[in-house]
Amino acid sequence: MKYDNRVRCTIVAGGAGFIGYHLCKRLLKEGRNIVCVDNLSTGRLNNIAKFIEEENFMFLNHDVINALSIDCDVDEIYNLACPASPAQYQKDPVHTFLTSVVGTKNLLELAKEKNARILHFSTSEVYGNPSISPQREDYWGNVNMYGPRSCYDEGKRGAETLFHDYQEQYGIDTRIVRVFNTYGPKMAINDGRVVSNFIVQALQGKPLTIYGNGKQTRSLQYIDDLIEGVLRMMADDVPHTPINLGNPHEMNIGEIADLILRLTGSSSPIVYYPLPQDDPQQRCPDISKATKLLDGWQPRIGIEEGLLKTIEYFKKEILLN
Ligand code: UDP
Repeated sequence: MKYDNRVRCTIVAGGAGFIGYHLCKRLLKEGRNIVCVDNLSTGRLNNIAKFIEEENFMFLNHDVINALSIDCDVDEIYNLACPASPAQYQKDPVHTFLTSVVGTKNLLELAKEKNARILHFSTSEVYGNPSISPQREDYWGNVNMYGPRSCYDEGKRGAETLFHDYQEQYGIDTRIVRVFNTYGPKMAINDGRVVSNFIVQALQGKPLTIYGNGKQTRSLQYIDDLIEGVLRMMADDVPHTPINLGNPHEMNIGEIADLILRLTGSSSPIVYYPLPQDDPQQRCPDISKATKLLDGWQPRIGIEEGLLKTIEYFKKEILLN
């Protein structure tokens, strides 16, 4: 252990993943001492290699399913530990579910022991296949508890329940963000989500794989906007109840494919595959709560600007792989 109990540190569970990388980078800039906890199931050491060289960054290869013991004083805990792409979280659904529920319980116990503030990365998946749009935080969702997405959706719902209960029962200082589809540099090439798949396919001249008829919608948020919202969530005077963070600019999957073809200048064809079971038809955040409570927060990066930055990143990644 690089830190002892005289050091005050911030824990980022799942810190080696796509979002975790960006969060660690911002927190390091603020001069924090970071403990990045990750089992590297979808996180990558490569993402944090540069950080590990720094004095105030420590990496712990640990699965949050197992209880976590940390020597240092802890001010804040960020819980991102869980694979988030359907292609990844469905590989070992039992582990995915336990990561969300047991892993969250272990981190809440740590928050209790250390008297730390803890923020949970929940997801728009808690709304399932929504029957209202846009989705407000007080909508309870339409989720299948017995299907291929349930390990993630119900795991994340269970984690929110634990956050509610630890807050009520033990007075833990909790925060929850419900993250809508987020993209940007540092996504893994084989992540399997729509933006990374389409960009990599377009750059490699391979067919873009649309699942279903491409009429289902998503609202894509650039990573920097999410991180800004998350940091504001950790400020004082923010409520314990969940807050949506996403970009309300809603597009259907066919439109996303067309835009990526245009921005990459690719002439890849489009091929259609069957729609996966329980794939939500629509997703769009109502962000009025975030804007009101997080000092006017709203997304700043438009879709073309964000995609162009992401395309530049993937061009380099493809050359390296
Ligand atoms: N999708 C697609 N082709 C792909 C990957 C995803 O058409 O290569 C669709 C998927 O069926 C879903 C949407 O894009 O309707 C977003 O999928 P993603 O896996 O990015 O995240 P989700 O929002 O479903 O968790």
